[in-house]
Amino acid sequence: MAQVTSSTTVHDVVVVGSGAGGGTVTNVLANMGVSVLLLEAGPMLNIADLKEHMWPYNVPHRGAGPKGQAYTNEPTGFTYSATYGGSQLDGEPYTVAPGSDFSWFRSRILGGRTNHYGRVTLRLADYDFKPYTTDSLGFDWPISYNDLAPYYDKAEQFIGVTGSIEGIRSAPDGIFNPPGALKAHDVLVQRACAKNGIRAVAARQAVTTVARNGRPPCHYCGQCGRGCTTASNYASSYVQIFPAMKTGKVQVIANAMARELVTDASGKVTAVSYVDKTDGSEKQVRCRSVVLAASACESARLLLNSKSSQHPQGLANSSGKVGRYLMDTVGYSMSATVPALSGMPHYNSDGYGSHLYVPWWLWDKHKDLNFARGYHIEVGGGYGMPGIGSFQGAVNRVEGYGIPMKQAIRDNYGTSIGLSGRGEMIPNEDSYCEVDPEVKDRWGIPVLRFHWKWSDHELNQVRHMQQTFRAILETMGGQIAAPGGRGGGRGAAPTTAMDTGPQPGSQAPQTGQAGPQTGLPNAPAGQPATGGRGQRAGNAAAADPNRPPISRGGAIIHEVGTVRMGDDPKTSPLNKFCQAHEVKNLFVADGAPFVSNADKNPTHTIIALAWRTAEYLAEELRKGNV
Ligand SMILES: Cc1cc2nc3c(=O)[nH]c(=O)nc-3n(C[C@H](O)[C@H](O)[C@H](O)COP(=O)(O)OP(=O)(O)OC[C@H]3O[C@@H](n4cnc5c(N)ncnc54)[C@H](O)[C@@H]3O)c2cc1C
Ligand code: SF4
Repeated sequence: MAQVTSSTTVHDVVVVGSGAGGGTVTNVLANMGVSVLLLEAGPMLNIADLKEHMWPYNVPHRGAGPKGQAYTNEPTGFTYSATYGGSQLDGEPYTVAPGSDFSWFRSRILGGRTNHYGRVTLRLADYDFKPYTTDSLGFDWPISYNDLAPYYDKAEQFIGVTGSIEGIRSAPDGIFNPPGALKAHDVLVQRACAKNGIRAVAARQAVTTVARNGRPPCHYCGQCGRGCTTASNYASSYVQIFPAMKTGKVQVIANAMARELVTDASGKVTAVSYVDKTDGSEKQVRCRSVVLAASACESARLLLNSKSSQHPQGLANSSGKVGRYLMDTVGYSMSATVPALSGMPHYNSDGYGSHLYVPWWLWDKHKDLNFARGYHIEVGGGYGMPGIGSFQGAVNRVEGYGIPMKQAIRDNYGTSIGLSGRGEMIPNEDSYCEVDPEVKDRWGIPVLRFHWKWSDHELNQVRHMQQTFRAILETMGGQIAAPGGRGGGRGAAPTTAMDTGPQPGSQAPQTGQAGPQTGLPNAPAGQPATGGRGQRAGNAAAADPNRPPISRGGAIIHEVGTVRMGDDPKTSPLNKFCQAHEVKNLFVADGAPFVSNADKNPTHTIIALAWRTAEYLAEELRKGNV
């Protein structure tokens, strides 16, 4: 084995990963006077690299991708965004077990995926913490809404979240800043929803519309998917980590890929071993405590790869549950061309992404449904900055040449409305990740192998989405694009649902890079294409025509649940403070501790949980308990 360089300093806290969870822990601890060493596998973020205001003509191929992929709705990667991530990372493969279909999106940069995520920011409802009590499926969380509500409050006040007070049980109100005005297509959707007995309300986005902690309010450029040079939206890098560094309490080591946690004879973590990616050398940093926030699956991988004589199944894994109960969000999209929007005077519809969303409205009607749990709807539409991707797909929907074609494109531009369902998945025994016994990454670290299965609850939920979206879109006179396609389908009109980021072919991130070949390390980018998030179902759907077009596992990029919390050490690796039951100085602060995956996008709950964990850890350090 190569020589390992070890630090002499014993750091109070080593945090692994700088996304939503790691950024929050770092910021909270630093502000409480606790020193933090932050290990991040990617490079340092440079604000000057954000391309938020760069025009298409300033980038190669106008950002359409080297093969013009944007014009054929093929994934382009993040060529037009200041981001570092995708389903394919050079030298970092993963595998998918035969019969499963899963893609794993990762980012490697300070701030992780928060630099370009969709920023949909929703609290879990009270009943979301007690799903088993509600319908005897899945598991209850060891905490309740009241335990987390103060941390949702803190997060909202610190970050800035848009929204309006509505009093809807499935969508608890928070401490909001004023939302942006509805756009023309939002008004159509809201009216059509009302005619179908469904309530649509102001979107809840992690964007500050008022000045806050030195951050100016949003200037409505509509480019959140490319970062924000004014830090008006939330990213852990510029909202939490850079300010935390100014306290003098934080040291960041970038390009540091944690390999394993080192333990002593008592079983406590004493050091984190990492690969310095700048030269491939192996280093160790010593610590009093460690917080894993490398993202749900990476944190599970680190634990599974930290084997020792005391921990033969991996660290904190005597329950055998590390890697288990992997969940994603159920995704399905439908879009339509709406004649009422055709020929309208064009106006600036940029805003901060979508300004409208539809909370789950049937939470008290489950006895009338053939699936458990619910979904919310994210709404897309409008013009967007004229850019790559053929004017939001208009060019793909119009044929001909000359002046008539140009006129038709102008008329078509901005007439598309997309609805994306984001639904709850119930944890099951067949969806999990484990260490692949054969395959290693470029540094020799064993990689993850994924297993995946949707249950009938999720499939029936998608059938319900199909009927509902059709009803809403047809109520406003919409002509459905690629009905029943794979979540809207290739060649369909774009959906601009906010969680997805702006539409295929626009400047926003294209998240569906090539996925893995079943049973093989992930294939080179470009083959096989998987489309955008929720845009394409996987192999199982292709094989079974009766199967509804559900998103492939992992495609919605909401993977959670691999190191869950619970009161019983026999069934849960973590306790209710996200502290390992059997390793008292080990904490997990990303999506891994989730016990269920409600329809709410997970990042707000990751932040609130991480905040709570950080405060608990600071107190335990003060008491000398860890
Ligand atoms: C396009 C897109 C849109 C999204 N939209 C939404 C949305 O609207 N709302 C929402 O709630 N969620 C959304 N998500 C999901 C959201 O980004 C994640 O929930 C969130 O970023 C998870 O935070 P995290 O801290 O767990 O991990 P990440 O943000 O993934 O950060 C993990 C960090 O850890 C680092 N790391 C990994 N392994 C190691 C290692 N071994 N050693 C050191 N460092 C390591 C990574 O480089 C990374 O920087 C979206 C995601 C994408 C990609
Ligand atoms: S829309 Fe607002 S929050 Fe988003 S990138 Fe532009 S200024 Fe920043």
